[in-house]
Amino acid sequence: MLKGKKWLFGFLLTSISMSAQSFDLLPLGVHGGGEENNLSAYLLGETGKKEYISLDAGTLRAGIDKAIENNVFQVSNEEVLRKYIKAYFISHGHLDHLSGMIINSPEDSAKHIYALPSTIEVLKNRYFTNDAWINFANEGDLPQLGKYTYQSISGNQEFSIENTNLKAKIFELSHVNPYKSSAILVSNPKQEAVLYLGDTGADRVEKSQHLQNLWAAVAPWIQQKKLKAILIEVSFDNSRDEKALFGHLTPKLLNEELLKLQQISKVKDLSGIKIIITHLKPGGKQIENIKNQLLQQNPLKLELIFPEQGKKISL
Ligand SMILES: [Zn+2]
Ligand SMILES: [Zn+2]
Repeated sequence: MLKGKKWLFGFLLTSISMSAQSFDLLPLGVHGGGEENNLSAYLLGETGKKEYISLDAGTLRAGIDKAIENNVFQVSNEEVLRKYIKAYFISHGHLDHLSGMIINSPEDSAKHIYALPSTIEVLKNRYFTNDAWINFANEGDLPQLGKYTYQSISGNQEFSIENTNLKAKIFELSHVNPYKSSAILVSNPKQEAVLYLGDTGADRVEKSQHLQNLWAAVAPWIQQKKLKAILIEVSFDNSRDEKALFGHLTPKLLNEELLKLQQISKVKDLSGIKIIITHLKPGGKQIENIKNQLLQQNPLKLELIFPEQGKKISL
């Protein structure tokens, strides 16, 4: 009897902790330049399902190798690439966000690429051309191999991510005004969500309202406690002159923007939302400085996560 009760208690605990987790996030690359084997790419899927959208695709193969080493996957690198990654979201046209997808395209399986119309134009006219590479996509230079299908998504339009149960919306960001980058809000059938931002400057520096608009759009998710995490960049430390940020954030600017998010959301605090810091740029002691500055000046008492390549994060 006693044994039975213990078993039941254990079972209940396990099911409670399982139901609290909704997404698996697997960083395949976490840096914003420098190391070509560790550039922005994050697999996001429903917990345990192995049906992912790749949020940017700077590094694929080296990140999958790390994940296999860490026992996150028990299949070959090629199988993860071909079968587990169901689609791509590309935040903007810079190489550190898409070079892994281009280089691995000959081995890849057919899938959709979701992006803003301006990003699709960059892919079509600069990368999937028959002189820069081979046109593996369904538009642009002839011949078109048609492995990838461009899905040009205008801001605020909700869409389903093919071969998953996930839905998403894309939002414009400013990455040296008027150059556009973008963010994506991915939601599951339980209406829980994760927000991923590509490269972005702060509104004050960019003379833009894109972040303010994004914060207003995610405010209802925060009020209903449905936003699990925000992946946002901090590329430089606080010593960098604001005139030389080239559309990126520092710890100080991140805090400024998150304070605005809290105000716009009209909530007491942002606790419960994991803040995952992406796109740290290597060089000298910069990464160390960024981490120290964020941890020392954390006025909103946020839960900060510094993702590591190939290590799964449960959300
Ligand atoms: Zn970048
Ligand atoms: Zn960029």
